[in-house]
Amino acid sequence: MFELKVLIVDDQSGIRRLLTEYFKHEGWRPVVAANGREALDLLPENPDVILLDIKMPIMDGIETLRTLRRTHPSLPVIVMTAYGELDVVQQAESLGISAKVHKPFDVVALKSMIESIHLQHLHVS
Ligand SMILES: [Mg+2]
Repeated sequence: MFELKVLIVDDQSGIRRLLTEYFKHEGWRPVVAANGREALDLLPENPDVILLDIKMPIMDGIETLRTLRRTHPSLPVIVMTAYGELDVVQQAESLGISAKVHKPFDVVALKSMIESIHLQHLHVS
């Protein structure tokens, strides 16, 4: 039903590969970045949703989100967090995120979460 363009931002190649393969299989158009700098460079691709890792070298998720929000105040962002990142998750929430998922996550549940966030975004924008 949707052909969503999802920007996957994670420094772990295994996560990028897993999500890319799954979303492609579902008919979506994944775009990948290994850090925040690469993600910001890919914004002209106009992703529908961004899946953003918090801990990354070069530019982490918080810095990425802070920069992104200056130009894209309402673009849906879902942060992917690991155990023990409560402080940074709160920082992310204050910058504006649609949701958070804990690693390891279920890709099927993640996909339906992305769909409902996208639909919500379409209705309010
Ligand atoms: Mg990471």
